[in-house]
Amino acid sequence: MKAHDGMYIDGEWRPAAGADTIAVVNPADEQVIALVPAGTIEDVDAAVRAARTAFPAWAATPPAERAALIGALRDVLVARKDEIAATVTAELGSPLKFSQAVHVGAPIAVAGSYADLAASYAFEEKVGNSTVYLEPVGVVGAITPWNYPLHQIVAKVAPALAAGCTVVLKPAEDTPLTAQLFAEAVHEAGVPAGVFNLVTGLGPVAGQALVEHEGVDLVSFTGSTAVGRQIGATAGAAVKRVALELGGKSANVILPSADLAKAVNVGVANVMSNSGQTCSAWTRMLVHDAQYDEAVALAAEAAAKYGERIGPVVNAKQRERVLGYIEKGVAEGARLVAGGPESPRERGYYVSPTVFADVTPEMAVAQEEIFGPVLSVIRYEDEADALRIANGTVYGLAGAVWAGDEAEAVAFARRLDTGQVDINGGRFNPRAPFGGYKQSGVGRELGAHGLSEYLQTKSLQF
Ligand code: NAP
Ligand code: MG
Repeated sequence: MKAHDGMYIDGEWRPAAGADTIAVVNPADEQVIALVPAGTIEDVDAAVRAARTAFPAWAATPPAERAALIGALRDVLVARKDEIAATVTAELGSPLKFSQAVHVGAPIAVAGSYADLAASYAFEEKVGNSTVYLEPVGVVGAITPWNYPLHQIVAKVAPALAAGCTVVLKPAEDTPLTAQLFAEAVHEAGVPAGVFNLVTGLGPVAGQALVEHEGVDLVSFTGSTAVGRQIGATAGAAVKRVALELGGKSANVILPSADLAKAVNVGVANVMSNSGQTCSAWTRMLVHDAQYDEAVALAAEAAAKYGERIGPVVNAKQRERVLGYIEKGVAEGARLVAGGPESPRERGYYVSPTVFADVTPEMAVAQEEIFGPVLSVIRYEDEADALRIANGTVYGLAGAVWAGDEAEAVAFARRLDTGQVDINGGRFNPRAPFGGYKQSGVGRELGAHGLSEYLQTKSLQF
């Protein structure tokens, strides 16, 4: 795989300050496919300086021009989509078709949405005797995870650029090649030097240096709740804006009037896709007592069919973590009806699509984010019980409700403590705000709500 041995700073690939490297591994066969530089505090400092220097001119660039450059960036992503999909597959391990459809398809849609929004958004409004200007916050430090490597970059960089902010990105150590391709695309699109900068490296080194840098005005982070908590505390102490997109343990609530087979099949596909490494996955399936056995049988069958198609999880540590949860589920008394702790292949970080039945709401497999292909099927007695179980975790990122009647599903969804709910299998909408209630995060991404995270208001009174 092609890799750059430097950092993309101020419009060019520059040698890294230090000599340390990160080995990029293909999780499907455990082979090292590339080396990228491990950024230091010096690299981060150079990148933040470049972003600061570029900020005034970019902030003053008319929104229509910023929109045109984001549109050009989208076009480069489209032109290079096969190369990007192959790169995501090589470093994340997701099946090529999924990489093409989702890992490349979603960011293209999001980039397109911000090209449109930057051109049409009202960056100025009248409120009585005031004119309110929506101005960019400044330099953004973006820290992204590996599970949707390009989507999570675009979901931060596109709105930041649309707002007039400049950016330093520290991508996940597991998926830096996709980030390097993105930097190439930004360059090819003609985005001015210093507006976007990339420093590859480790979280506790380059990531932490970025969060702590006084030249960064806003930190936008996606990843684990543990790291997010720490980043929020650091940003808070420095009175920096912060957006946190954290974990989830979302509920798929199947009401008795629903099309059970459809709700179960879509629910299993939702959990198994991307090998379960989706923060908004519906990893708890809630089924009424009367339909429970039928739902469990359907779920086991659907998961077994997934066995052939599922990709590996991202690395050895993640596989150990997921297998640890499967063993914990068994130890807690949950009943394995599909998959289990045995590795389905000799090589690669594969985990069998796993379904647990007889899961009770307080078990670890019902409370904690596993981030692997593991579904917990939980029984409820009545609607009040279903609601209590659905809302009974520290998270609130996503969810689903299925019912025979849409209004019935909507009424239930309105009582869920969560940031988004799919009604009877509703489709992903790249313009709808995405983000969490409770410990699933702070702030929103995507669409106009995502853009407003990167803006601050200035009111002039007349
Ligand atoms: P993570 O450690 O939170 O990583 C997310 C990003 O933060 C990565 O770029 C990481 O760099 C960086 N980072 C780590 N420590 C940092 C620090 N002290 N300061 C600044 N940046 C830091 O997540 P992970 O290790 O990849 O995965 C662990 C668990 O997090 C998963 O099992 C899953 O439960 C959860 N997760 C959630 C999401 C989500 O979308 N909500 C995404 C990924 C993971 P490195 O790559 O070098 O670690
Ligand atoms: Mg980590």
